[in-house]
Amino acid sequence: MSTYIGRFAPSPSGPLHFGSLVAALGSYFQAKSHQGQWLVRIEDLDPPREMPGAASLILSTLEHYGLHWDQSVIYQSQRHQRYQEQIETWLQSGRAYYCQCTRKQIKQSGGFYLGTCRKKNIINSENCSIRLKVDDAIEQFHDEKHGIITIPKQLAEEDFIIKRRDGLFAYNLAVVLDDIDQGITQVVRGADLIEPTGRQINLYRYLQHPEVSYVHLPLAVDAQGHKLSKQNHAPAVDIKSPKQTLMKVMSFLGFTLPKDFESASIEQMLDWGTRNWRLTQLPNALTLDSPF
Ligand code: GLU
Repeated sequence: MSTYIGRFAPSPSGPLHFGSLVAALGSYFQAKSHQGQWLVRIEDLDPPREMPGAASLILSTLEHYGLHWDQSVIYQSQRHQRYQEQIETWLQSGRAYYCQCTRKQIKQSGGFYLGTCRKKNIINSENCSIRLKVDDAIEQFHDEKHGIITIPKQLAEEDFIIKRRDGLFAYNLAVVLDDIDQGITQVVRGADLIEPTGRQINLYRYLQHPEVSYVHLPLAVDAQGHKLSKQNHAPAVDIKSPKQTLMKVMSFLGFTLPKDFESASIEQMLDWGTRNWRLTQLPNALTLDSPF
């Protein structure tokens, strides 16, 4: 039995687009080629940015693409208690603290938070965010595809937010607690998530839990070099004839497809992809033009 557990963790802010399918398929091939499990987690942490119905649309799109997940789907909206308990533990131990600084103030002081509230001992939580005290900044990490990746120092050193002023839990906290609780061994995701990786490794250390390993996939960008995202209305992937799009995603991931590939079924395509998947075939570039 393989002990590999991977995952795909979309935020339900819109339907799946080409870029999200790259992350879905890259993580799927990496998990299945290790005879591992591939889990799906819906990251519904931020209701104002979500689109009603997007979560079920994402899941049905995955099914149309033959991407069947293992275990049951986890929803972050169901896990608030777990996140809150961890925050309270850290508030008590002094690893986390309340911060009154506004975004505007931080911008005025150069764009990075300089630890202004670290020693203020604020006990009234009203209108405060909660930050994690970062004593050992993670400025580098090892990526299984790209080797050592360096993170800007000021970003790595920042005491970052684990709960926002508006009461929403921060992505970095939720993703690490979920990955730990789901037994994830490797995270495969888009290169847009390289920068938060240092913070996430920090969270693993403060939780005294061995960190996962990482693979960052090329990020699909539009003609202007912008990331395809649900916020900038990247088109939803076609669910009526998924084979064409599947082939485009596989080419994007560096596969050289056999000539008669189009005549294969979706299942055969995924099976061939799993057998032929190698991290060495993945393009080295961190951003690549999207074919859409
Ligand atoms: N929910 C994040 C997104 O949709 C991905 C989180 C992750 O893979 O770590 O961009």
